Amino acid sequence: MSESPATGPAPAIGPASATGSDGIALYVHVPFCLSKCPYCDFNTYQGIEAQFGDYRAAVTAEISAWSRTLAHPAVNTIFLGGGTPSYLPDGDVARILDAIAAGFAVRPNAEITAECNPNDLTPARCANLHAAGVNRVSIGVQSMDNGLLALLGRRHDAAEAAAALQSCRRAGFNNINLDLMYGLPQQTPAQWHDTIERVTALSPEHLSLYALTLEDGTPLRRWVTDGRLPEPNPDLAADMYDHARAALSNAGYHHYEISNWCRPGRESQHNLAYWRNRQWLGVGPGAHSSLANCRFWTTRSPRDYARQATAWRQQAAAAGRWATVSAERLTAVPTVDGLEVIGSDTAAAETMFLALRLLDGMDLTAASNQAGVNLAHRYQTELSELLSDGLLVRAADGRLRLAEAAYLVANQVFTRFL
Ligand code: SF4
Repeated sequence: MSESPATGPAPAIGPASATGSDGIALYVHVPFCLSKCPYCDFNTYQGIEAQFGDYRAAVTAEISAWSRTLAHPAVNTIFLGGGTPSYLPDGDVARILDAIAAGFAVRPNAEITAECNPNDLTPARCANLHAAGVNRVSIGVQSMDNGLLALLGRRHDAAEAAAALQSCRRAGFNNINLDLMYGLPQQTPAQWHDTIERVTALSPEHLSLYALTLEDGTPLRRWVTDGRLPEPNPDLAADMYDHARAALSNAGYHHYEISNWCRPGRESQHNLAYWRNRQWLGVGPGAHSSLANCRFWTTRSPRDYARQATAWRQQAAAAGRWATVSAERLTAVPTVDGLEVIGSDTAAAETMFLALRLLDGMDLTAASNQAGVNLAHRYQTELSELLSDGLLVRAADGRLRLAEAAYLVANQVFTRFL
């Protein structure tokens, strides 16, 4: 990006914006991957590089349309995810961030994250991303065991993952997340312990650890169903999680969300907006958004999305600024493929289970004010049962927290609010 969104001329913001003055989190979905990993069911594609140009034009058109209709909303964080943003041709991330800076009021010092694959992170690519305004990278390392990386269909090995992080450091990045996976078929505790030891030696600011889920329709699920790979062992996965908690604590990491650890002050600001049930706008094919009381998503097909984004920009130019966000207006947006109006029951339940993912818990009174409903009253029975079952705890400061024993069965707690 020629000029950082943090310092470039910012359009006026304030209550005049249709999303209010608190600002939004902005997600940009990038649907390209060099190759499709056998465990992945995200809306991403290999072999569609011929659409790079159409995608860039479409996503900047969509950004321009939202900028106009939402009246230059304030943006607190930007997250380029996918897919593989680091796989985009040089200059495209800068062009997308330029379009965002031109159309939105990006807050000074906004966290701007790009998801990256290690094999893309050459010194030149790292320098380009940094110069474009990206100030946080999230690297899909997954494992430091080369055999498991091959099983996962990853294009990199452990040495390349370590080199990628060093290239990011040399380019000036001081906020780096590494994604890891555990509970893999054939994964031994020793392999996991070694991975944790080697990634902590790299000293990233943030770590996200995800247990493998065998998603329907993926090759990995088929290989397990066919008996070509053993079923992942949930008890082993639980032991791996416990080991990571202890080892990362010893290494000075703060466990702040069920699956996330960080150095002090390095929480993912973008993900905090999700967990705090704030407003977010997603652009790009298959991206999800949550504005006002509406949850909506765009067309998944990159080709259809590209056509619709152009139509959306033309429509927005004619429609001008919206006074408010409403289901009626959103349904008429060409890129919107589906929409759900969030009623008060769903909003209350989501407030509970998103906030409880954060391990410092929730202030029920503040959350009630945000959700517009007395949560202590609404969930009186559930809260009392979960407290007496030892799955929730009431801390000395009055906050409600997930008990440590519930970290691995958090979904069972959350479903009680649905
Ligand atoms: S690189 Fe990431 S998004 Fe792409 S296929 Fe692999 S896991 Fe999915």
